[in-house]
Amino acid sequence: MEKSVSGFDESKWSSLKKDLKKTVGDSAYNNWLKHLSYVALENDTITFSVPTKFLRDWIVNNYSDTIKIESKKYSEQIDVIKFVVKPNGGRIVPGTTRTIKSSDNHWKSTLDIRSNQQSTQSEFGAPLDPRFTFDNFVVGKPNELAFAASERVAEADKVSFNPLFLYGGVGLGKTHLMHAIGWKIKQQQPDRKVIYLSAEKFMYQFVRALRYKDTSAFKEQFRSIDVLMIDDVQFISGKDNTQEEFFHTFNALIEQNKQIVISADKSPSDLDGVQDRLKSRLGCGLVADIHPTTYELRLGILIEKAQKRGVEIPPKVLEFISHRIISNVREMEGALNRLVAHATLVGTSISVETAQIVLQDLLKSSNKKITIEEIQKKVAEHFNIRITDMHSPRRSRSVARPRQIAMYLAKSITSRSLPEIGRKFGGRDHTTVMHAVKKIEELKIQDVSFNEDIELLKRLIDS
Ligand code: ADP
Ligand code: MG
Repeated sequence: MEKSVSGFDESKWSSLKKDLKKTVGDSAYNNWLKHLSYVALENDTITFSVPTKFLRDWIVNNYSDTIKIESKKYSEQIDVIKFVVKPNGGRIVPGTTRTIKSSDNHWKSTLDIRSNQQSTQSEFGAPLDPRFTFDNFVVGKPNELAFAASERVAEADKVSFNPLFLYGGVGLGKTHLMHAIGWKIKQQQPDRKVIYLSAEKFMYQFVRALRYKDTSAFKEQFRSIDVLMIDDVQFISGKDNTQEEFFHTFNALIEQNKQIVISADKSPSDLDGVQDRLKSRLGCGLVADIHPTTYELRLGILIEKAQKRGVEIPPKVLEFISHRIISNVREMEGALNRLVAHATLVGTSISVETAQIVLQDLLKSSNKKITIEEIQKKVAEHFNIRITDMHSPRRSRSVARPRQIAMYLAKSITSRSLPEIGRKFGGRDHTTVMHAVKKIEELKIQDVSFNEDIELLKRLIDS
């Protein structure tokens, strides 16, 4: 019924659509402008309808200039563009018209009535884990940049780095930091709407929207978001359709000055199967990497987690775990949990020995042959002396005792003969080695804590 109005008929409308497609490109057209329907041209006003408010706002904000320029080619008289919201197959929603007028070469947009503020919290985002806060995050060299950047993003009321791209290996705290950003914003700026979701969930929802031919509802979800966080974007790689959609959502949100936080297991440029333009877009804000943990950081995290749990764990056991479970924090936490559970259930105290038994499968089992050099290195590190002191003739106790310990360990861990060991320690005689072994064995019997120290060292070296 509303098809042909003075000078603008169905065929003009379809050529206008073709022009728009050419101008904005296939994907932008399919994502946004495809949903436009022509309603009427009356005097200087051309009216279009779109199925949702979100689409209307998006189109008004991003494409009204283009639409004006292209429409004017068909009818010089056009000066005002009107958008009404009309759900597919439904009726125009009252009070949703947006009118774009040109004046002083500027398009002014006016909203007849503010769109209802109903928030669509839906199942779109994922809940935040209450344990993942900034307070519970232990900061060390490997994660200080990522931590500082996350805090900044959470505290700023304006968009700072966009996007913030956090990357690092599994279990190093990316998700923890993202949730912490979410909590902080909720707490300090409750009006800002934060959405956190995994890239997988993003993909799943998009694919579902495609299946039900309802991508506009999908886009509607982003309407009122202030901060969007997408976790593990490496899972988006390779899926062209989703990448395309992700890219557009992403661009549009950035243009609207919404904060975006992304995480991945690799840097943007190293993401496999991701289109180049998406890579460069992802890398155009602040890229902060989280390095593998150091011994100090692991120990710090363990101490913090043990404290939170209110359990007493001997420092030696914490040191042992931090030394031996190095892959990631998640695994280390798992080890702690298991140890605590075991001690509670069996009623034994937690010691390095029980840790060794209970965590056996987690401790990197290495069948490699341990060398005397490795032992010297570990012992030197442990006692904070120089490795050259292992070979030097110095006799001061501070270096002589660790040297004896290293000889003892070389004897008990490797299958080297006493003369061979002697040679590796600066050409010492085999009797010197024998004496060292005896001495350490005596001390182990006399002094419990010395014994523990040696046992710890042994376990650190010998898996
Ligand atoms: P990722 O997302 O990088 O794979 P997570 O954020 O899920 O890793 O972290 C794994 C586990 O390790 C979580 O329980 C998290 O709380 C903990 N964790 C990681 N880094 C730290 C840290 N620096 N301080 C405290 N806990 C941490
Ligand atoms: Mg994660």
